[in-house]
Amino acid sequence: MKKRRKRTKAGSPQVITKAVTHIGLEAPNPGKLTTLDTLAEVYLALTQQYVTLFCSNEVPNGFRAPCFLTSLSERWHRVAIQQAAGIAKSWRSNRANAYEDYLDQLSEYQEQKTDGTLEDQAKEPEWREWNIPTLRQPCIQANGNVIKLEEAEDSTFDYWLNVSTLDKGHPLLIPVKLADYHKEQLTDPQTGKRRKINSSVTLNKRDEVWWLTLTYDETVAVATSPDAPVIGIDVGIANFLTTSDGKQYGTFNGKLRKRQKQDREKRRRKAKLRKCLEKRGVPKDKLPSTSSATGQRLIRHVRQEINRAVNLCFDEHQDCQFAYEQLSVASMRFKARTMNAYMRASNLAHIPDHITWNATKRGVLATRVKSAYSSQECHMCHYVDRKNRPNQQTFCCRVCGHTTHADTNASQNIASRLGDLELRACQNRQEVKALLMRRHEQWKQKFRHSVVVPPVQLGLWACSEASTDVG
Ligand SMILES: [Zn+2]
Repeated sequence: MKKRRKRTKAGSPQVITKAVTHIGLEAPNPGKLTTLDTLAEVYLALTQQYVTLFCSNEVPNGFRAPCFLTSLSERWHRVAIQQAAGIAKSWRSNRANAYEDYLDQLSEYQEQKTDGTLEDQAKEPEWREWNIPTLRQPCIQANGNVIKLEEAEDSTFDYWLNVSTLDKGHPLLIPVKLADYHKEQLTDPQTGKRRKINSSVTLNKRDEVWWLTLTYDETVAVATSPDAPVIGIDVGIANFLTTSDGKQYGTFNGKLRKRQKQDREKRRRKAKLRKCLEKRGVPKDKLPSTSSATGQRLIRHVRQEINRAVNLCFDEHQDCQFAYEQLSVASMRFKARTMNAYMRASNLAHIPDHITWNATKRGVLATRVKSAYSSQECHMCHYVDRKNRPNQQTFCCRVCGHTTHADTNASQNIASRLGDLELRACQNRQEVKALLMRRHEQWKQKFRHSVVVPPVQLGLWACSEASTDVG
């Protein structure tokens, strides 16, 4: 089941869109599905034209005026433009992220080159331009203007799918029969009635079978009281989630990293074999493929682990509310220096979205807060410095000596940022830093006369202790 969340204003009940997938379409008369095939062929070709346009010369615009010739009706034409704009938008943003990653790797490479720390085999990163997406599988994301779902009077079927076709005035009627589990999913458990199905539907053709996807909206009331205790969540790679009460959930180290290593080895062997066979003149289509099924499996594993971690975190903090980071792609990248393209693909940067989704589903209050400097700020005295983190795990304040796990310090900062109006009003990172340093000055004024041990020395002592601790 796929899920999507609509943005709502704070305080109002939250609306989630849920999908009922894999409703197989079987027409008693095969001619009907042939008509659908013909329609899909024309539709796919037109959508492809707009995808190419939106990925190359124009900015994606779902409301662009039609500019290609087609035998489809104007309504179908508009649906194709909308779908193409959506595809192009996500392709463009994925490409932009990949390009930024490349620039990042390039600057790291150049830094190391200047430092003289470059490894012998290290190659300068190269950018390979992305291909414009090619639509292969028929997929139609249609609205009520071109496909209508109608209740069937006859009890043999549940609905009729009324599809307008190339033949004007002669719509296609395809019977829809729901499986018992589809019916159960579409029944509101409170009222026992059938839910209201959204007017947009999706049709996919896979392995010669047409599949229908329906969606419905569900409203979830927020059950958390606004004065419930606040738990801050820090997001990372070493620990997917760290909470301000010092608990940790999920990690990329251990099992997942081992899998990733194995996967990399496998690909390396495969590439070697390919080269070898190529030299011997084996034709291209007989060579082992370079795409990695194990890579896909690894991505799925990471997603499952993230899901499990987020669920457990919520389970163990009943009756709490959450504050979590409003991460930018850049700050996530900073947290994930060693992460490779695979891990980026696996949506590690989307952990905050998992948190949002889980909270919405459970009716729990969760608020995103600014993440700027949350890992460099001392939770005790607000002093901000990159050097407060002598290594990845340790936080050790250079001024007051406060020492703890780096992720715990960050999650505590995040917890206290909930309801911090001054911080919320900051327009950029510089303003956040200035505010935190002002707070640090106030802290110094307050404790000027009560500190016996010079704070700096205490800090250094604590840091050396801590670093022997973690190695
Ligand atoms: Zn401090």
